[in-house]
Amino acid sequence: MRAVEHIGIAVRSIEERLPLYRALGFEVGGREEVGSEKVRVAFLLAAGTRIELLEPTAPDSPIRSFLTKRGEGMHHICFQVDDIRATMTELRTKGFRLLSDEPRSGANGSQVCFIHPSSGGGVLIELSQPGE
Ligand code: ZN
Repeated sequence: MRAVEHIGIAVRSIEERLPLYRALGFEVGGREEVGSEKVRVAFLLAAGTRIELLEPTAPDSPIRSFLTKRGEGMHHICFQVDDIRATMTELRTKGFRLLSDEPRSGANGSQVCFIHPSSGGGVLIELSQPGE
């Protein structure tokens, strides 16, 4: 593990939340739609900190159900890893559950996986191997 890659925050509307983060000094570093997760994301950058705002794009988006159950707020924390497949194998060997058997494609060409909440102690943890 190398660093906190970003902190994911679930929002109903990215546009509605941008004024707050802009007031805190964040700049929009990129926007993307991640089809596999049915979300639209905006990455906000300030002083080496990255925030990922996640807005649902479909009624069956996992972010939509999160918002329905818990409202807007902290959704996950993402750690950067060098080799996601090796990390997934190690976690499984140690008995931790993952949400998928294979890495999935995330934002910016990254490969990501999530640790199952039952193994995460109440925290949804994403692992991300940067794109080439
Ligand atoms: Zn994320």
